[in-house]
Amino acid sequence: MKTDLKGLNALETEQWAVDKGLEPYRGRQIRHWLLNRLARSCDEMQNLPKDIRALVMEKALIAPIEEVKTLISEDGTRKYLFRLHDGHLIESVLIPERDHLTICISSQAGCAMGCRFCLTGKGGFKRNLTPSEIVEQVIYVKRSLSDPERLTNIVFMGMGEPLANYDAVVRALGNLIAADGMNFSHRKVTLSTCGLVPEIEKLGRDTTVNLAVSLNAADDETRSSLMPVNRRYPLSRLIQACREFPLPNRRMITFEYILIDGINDREEDARRLTGVLSGLRAKINLIPLNAASGAEMSPPPMERILQFQEILADRHFTAMIRKSKGRDILAACGQLTGTYEVGGRRSEVRGQPCLAAKAPSSINQETKLLGLRSSSFIQELSR
Ligand code: SAH
Ligand code: SF4
Repeated sequence: MKTDLKGLNALETEQWAVDKGLEPYRGRQIRHWLLNRLARSCDEMQNLPKDIRALVMEKALIAPIEEVKTLISEDGTRKYLFRLHDGHLIESVLIPERDHLTICISSQAGCAMGCRFCLTGKGGFKRNLTPSEIVEQVIYVKRSLSDPERLTNIVFMGMGEPLANYDAVVRALGNLIAADGMNFSHRKVTLSTCGLVPEIEKLGRDTTVNLAVSLNAADDETRSSLMPVNRRYPLSRLIQACREFPLPNRRMITFEYILIDGINDREEDARRLTGVLSGLRAKINLIPLNAASGAEMSPPPMERILQFQEILADRHFTAMIRKSKGRDILAACGQLTGTYEVGGRRSEVRGQPCLAAKAPSSINQETKLLGLRSSSFIQELSR
């Protein structure tokens, strides 16, 4: 079987070269071509003699995913659909920000966690991605850019639960942030989880990337009804793991809270949320539910969203409203399904008003400002 080199670390790549009868420095050269020069074929490895290129071609898997289609949203967001070697489909989303680009990548084909509001979850679980399938999403998209250096931020918020594919994700993280790998700043990489407690604990020991937790409710009953994972790891355990998560200076944990009409958007929910998070270095991202057509749940009216935010702000929490991008191509949170069945029919996806523009005059200036500053959650993550 061919070796999947983009999933190996530096030492393993050297060892692979040695096992093939090459000098260790050839391993370093190949790694440089793959992760720094973003090579997707051996022909690109110009400083390698022809016989070594032929050997790499024969023994190594260089391009583990292939593009099926790319959709471009009216707001510039791009959604890439990729096929894996066994036919499964995954998606990555490229999000333009004011001064940089963020890529949202998948860690699994499908997801087994079954969150009620999430289209990825509804499609069920297909399989875990390999480390190189995770890294390759970034390589492929970066190669497609006219100015690749603008791609500085990575979020694990695509398809799948990254901590349910722990070893592969940590390996991929290693190659994404290694100085002799893709050299992303660990401060600009964020992993989002639905709350797998033992893996959150491990992650704190194994990496220094940012943690985001999809909270979505501040009491066990509501959270369990939305997210089955809460029955295994209830809020008290999850929050305890967050309190113990080793945070570098000035870093915070991001808590994502999807606002769903009539389910978790009452004033008492907001107050309870501030209680649950009290004492934590936390910032809260409020995400009005992205509903697909025919969905059983809907986002609250804008006024209630702003009220919710105001309660959090009054209690000194940084609470941003995340304006979803790429809705018209179903590239927003929870809309990634690995198909384009609905993506092409723009009329099916209802647009939503700009948060700041629709702010009612009754809300105070501070809340308005927060609304204005919330042009994108992901943009905010990278500050
Ligand atoms: N499995 C991980 C990461 C992928 S989901 C997790 O759950 O955190 C990425 C984000 O999309 C999560 O914050 C999730 O709560 C959010 N999300 C899922 N479905 C959504 C929907 N319908 N509307 C808005 N956000 C959604
Ligand atoms: Fe999986 Fe995250 Fe969707 Fe839940 S929200 S089903 S954990 S991808």
